[in-house]
Amino acid sequence: MKLESKLYVAGHCLSFAAATFKGDPWRIERYPAICARIRHPEHGHIVFDTGYSQAFFSQTRRFPSRLYRMATPVRLAPGESLADQLAEEGIQPSEIGHVILSHFHADHVGGLSDFPSATIIADTGGWAYLRDKRGFAAVRKGFVPGLIPSDFEKRFRGILYRRQVRLGEGMGPFRIGYDLFGDGSILAVYLEGHARHQVGILFDDIDLGPTFLCADAAWSRRAIRENTGPGRMGYMAVDDVQAADGTLGRLHELHKRNPGLRIVPSHCQEVWEEIKGGSRV
Ligand SMILES: [Zn+2]
Repeated sequence: MKLESKLYVAGHCLSFAAATFKGDPWRIERYPAICARIRHPEHGHIVFDTGYSQAFFSQTRRFPSRLYRMATPVRLAPGESLADQLAEEGIQPSEIGHVILSHFHADHVGGLSDFPSATIIADTGGWAYLRDKRGFAAVRKGFVPGLIPSDFEKRFRGILYRRQVRLGEGMGPFRIGYDLFGDGSILAVYLEGHARHQVGILFDDIDLGPTFLCADAAWSRRAIRENTGPGRMGYMAVDDVQAADGTLGRLHELHKRNPGLRIVPSHCQEVWEEIKGGSRV
């Protein structure tokens, strides 16, 4: 099934290039928080990750959550949150039926409270791992508890309860996906390492073909092309370094085997340039 989709940048953060790409200089650069909206013929608008929103600033005002925004200072222009951009297009928050979360880092759940009626699809184990963490234990894992809506568990659906499917040849070396809507339209693919039980999603864009939103499994398309992970500082918030390196290696392999596949990392500057230029990438 082919689906309409669009990418958005909901704020950006500042970080050292050396932290995001091993061997790059200690230069401060801007990294977008990319999210996506997919339109499903039956389920309506579906959002993948939510970027930053005003809630990020209010919830990181006090220590220790404040350490998060000290480590990666965040910029969000007026009207730049995902909900604001959707409203500008005439899509109200109540029209977002589902939010799929790749993982629970604050730059991916920052706008979650802007979609109060959406069913939230994410990994159960990833949530169980974080949900009781508070204070330094939370911030060390990139988790800001106040960004999670109070009725989260009522609206939460786990990925592993979905039908498991074998991915097509074009996705090798990745083999297994989870059919999120029971019709093969959007498949979740596990991308371990960066955060506990992180997932990406695979779908077939109506214009640009098979599309793999790989969240933070790679910082950039360049990292995938060159199979180069972050610098030592960039590994600080990584859950399992060995697994993250393995996942990046598999993305590199996937790109080599299927160079035409559209892969979108959440913080890729190349993708950001193309979005800014008005082209669909
Ligand atoms: Zn992350």
